[in-house]
Amino acid sequence: MTRNQFKVTRRDALLTAAGAAAGVALGAPMASPALAAAPMLGALRPQVYRFTLGEFEVTTISDGAVQLDGPHPIFGNNRPAEEVQNYAAAHALPTTRHEISFAPTVVNTGSELILFDTGNGAARREAGAGHLRELLSAAGYQPGQFDVVVITHGHPDHIGGLIEDGEPAFANARYVVGETEHQAWKTGEGIPEGRRENQQMYNQVVVPLEEKMTFLQPEGEVVSGIRAVDAFGHSPGQLAFHVESGGERVLLWADVANHYILAVHKPEWHLSFDHDKEAAVTTRQRIFDMVATDKIPAIGYHMPFPAVGYLDTYDGGYRWVPASYQLHL
Ligand SMILES: [Zn+2]
Repeated sequence: MTRNQFKVTRRDALLTAAGAAAGVALGAPMASPALAAAPMLGALRPQVYRFTLGEFEVTTISDGAVQLDGPHPIFGNNRPAEEVQNYAAAHALPTTRHEISFAPTVVNTGSELILFDTGNGAARREAGAGHLRELLSAAGYQPGQFDVVVITHGHPDHIGGLIEDGEPAFANARYVVGETEHQAWKTGEGIPEGRRENQQMYNQVVVPLEEKMTFLQPEGEVVSGIRAVDAFGHSPGQLAFHVESGGERVLLWADVANHYILAVHKPEWHLSFDHDKEAAVTTRQRIFDMVATDKIPAIGYHMPFPAVGYLDTYDGGYRWVPASYQLHL
């Protein structure tokens, strides 16, 4: 702010005097000529967020969000509708519509640029998602700069951005995918009927990139400092990732939890999207316990943007505590 903005002009002074003389109450709007009307711009959400982690830089980018009916029976699939609706209402959430947002994450190790998940791609652009590609430049990156693209699991909102206009969207990247996950989607073994379209998509979008792919087991490394963590359940072989540099760490938990209240407070509630619902519950409890006990930050693909936070124990489950300045000190 410059000093000029505080300068009182002779005209302002006269107007003030006139207002006072007319008995205008303090704080009432002053009569002043209207400026040109500013256009209405519509809702605007935060889209890019970056923090440093030791020697690394970690950036979350919003791929957008879609609105769906629910939350029940998507969330609390094994609970009565009324219980889920009451719980939502008690936590300031609408009971008949909800939103799912998407946060692909970039890790720059200083020597390699790594993208975790690719968003929805063109297929959901009309619906409000698929914006990773256009927002990369706002984050300071170009698609051709990526050395590695990691796919946490094979669902459409994670693989949809791999191909753009029929070409690989990250032309110079190699790919890292979980071995169990890849085999399940490639062969269709154990994939339920309701996921057939998803399986076809995986075979169209991911399998053609096999030549440039490395397959990981839990505990396997993407690069030095980035290690896979077993997160099976939501999908046949989902992987979470520990990212560690200079003694600091963060856990990218992918889709271990798909809602910051309904899945985090109630890890035992089933999610209709979960492949093996009981395994997903066990995984949620194990990962949440680790994040809460170790007091480490987590990045959740479907947590509210910027999708970085911590966990406290709460109400028999856990509570998502959005990161504020902890990672900037
Ligand atoms: Zn997802």
